[in-house]
Amino acid sequence: MAVNPKKHEMPVQAPDVRAHNFQEVALGYTLEIATEEAKRCLNCKNRPCVEGCPVNIAIPDFITQIKLGHLEEAYQVIHQSSSLPAVCGRVCPQETQCESQCTLHVRAKMDPVGIGRLERFVADWHNEHATEKTHVPEANGHKVAVIGAGPSGLTCAGDLAKKGYAVTIYEALHTAGGVLVYGIPEFRLPKRIVAKEVETLKELGVQVETNVIIGKTLTIDELFEMGFEAVFIGSGAGLPNFMNIPGEALKGVYSANEFLTRSNLMKAYQENPTTPIMKGGNVAVVGGGNVAMDAARTALRLGAGHVYIIYRRSMEELPARREEVEHAQEEGIDFRLLNNPVEILGYNNPENPRDPRNGFVTGIRCIRMELGEPDASGRRRPVEVPGSEFELPVDTVIIAIGTSPNPLIKSTTEGLEVNRRGGIVIREDGLTSREHVYAGGDAVTGAATVISAMGAGKVAARAIDASLS
Ligand code: FAD
Ligand code: SF4
Repeated sequence: MAVNPKKHEMPVQAPDVRAHNFQEVALGYTLEIATEEAKRCLNCKNRPCVEGCPVNIAIPDFITQIKLGHLEEAYQVIHQSSSLPAVCGRVCPQETQCESQCTLHVRAKMDPVGIGRLERFVADWHNEHATEKTHVPEANGHKVAVIGAGPSGLTCAGDLAKKGYAVTIYEALHTAGGVLVYGIPEFRLPKRIVAKEVETLKELGVQVETNVIIGKTLTIDELFEMGFEAVFIGSGAGLPNFMNIPGEALKGVYSANEFLTRSNLMKAYQENPTTPIMKGGNVAVVGGGNVAMDAARTALRLGAGHVYIIYRRSMEELPARREEVEHAQEEGIDFRLLNNPVEILGYNNPENPRDPRNGFVTGIRCIRMELGEPDASGRRRPVEVPGSEFELPVDTVIIAIGTSPNPLIKSTTEGLEVNRRGGIVIREDGLTSREHVYAGGDAVTGAATVISAMGAGKVAARAIDASLS
């Protein structure tokens, strides 16, 4: 039977509706669509898609189970390799991972199998229908501390708890989930999905202590004094980078992390919130990654009049996931490509220093760019076009040009080696320069992906088990 060359479309909320609400944009495959999509898989002998998956999910096997209508079995195949399938099915960049290797795509130049969409379907089905109780393993008498409740920490904690370790996660914020709850907005990843994964960990016996900042409330040395035999650092890369241009200290300039945390976790969208955010007016988001797309689309949903994405390269180099870019475009986000900000402009009334408008953002001055020779990253270097400056009238500027690991843990942990970008230096198995201290995820690599953070949590859990058991 001939294979349908097109991936089955994902049902979504209409752009003009979803631009005004925080509900999930993608609605998920139905059983009928999932079964039809699964039939596109050729069940290739050499399984290139598995190689393309950073945690090597047995992709053709779970797809075969969908074809047979065995959805719980399909879930169990995925769950052997990934502890957060409902999350990964939604946010993994499949187009550059498993799907980029799919035979349909590589050999036949068709759409790849919708592996991510099928993964999400199976995980959602399981979360809705499974009744099985979590199996609590027998305690093995060893204690491990995990710093940070993001994907790397949650995965490391889960893998160790399944082997009987008494695991305590120390999380700085009041809610567990890391970027999955404070960064990625509800319309891409509903909070209930992350909360469910955290609940499952708690059922396994993992203790989650929120509002504890390691490096302030407790140090790593104190954790060892408390009887922990190993520590995993999964503290992420939450320190925002700025451009160092004039005007960055004006009122109405946010880092994307602050803007998204205020809206996601501190409920800034409510009437009179305790942690408010500027709503309405025009908004400029600087950057072209997933974080920039999330900030722009959040600003739109909070009531912005016009939202610009200002990015210094062209669409070809823009690093955000294609699907997110398309969704942002459909919602009316205005992409100003090959533009770079040189100054943020503010209101200043010299005759009245008490004028309440003083110090607030009024606009952003940009310069046009063109692409020159490739730089060290292999992407063509953006070069300023002399005399091409122009201004956009905006009330809010959100900077989304990347983040770095926070130096707090390094500065309070003697002998912990970091590289020049602040990433913790580790061996292949996750061990740091300190004995029994392991690290992984964005704290090591700088801002990366959910699945790579999970993979690092798994590797470290294996090494901790090998060293303690
Ligand atoms: P994090 O998720 O950052 O978790 C670290 C946790 O440690 C946080 O909860 C933090 O509060 C806590 N912590 C930090 N310091 C301390 C301390 N001293 N003591 C105690 N706790 C501490 N990736 C994708 O694959 N797909 C996407 O679509 C995608 N979109 C993104 C959108 C946004 C807005 C952002 C910001 C990132 C996105 N990413 C995406 C990247 C991805 O979320 C991260 O790579 C991943 O979450 C890293 O996981 P982690 O466990 O290393 O760190
Ligand atoms: Fe199926 Fe594509 Fe994997 Fe082949 S490469 S097994 S067609 S998902």
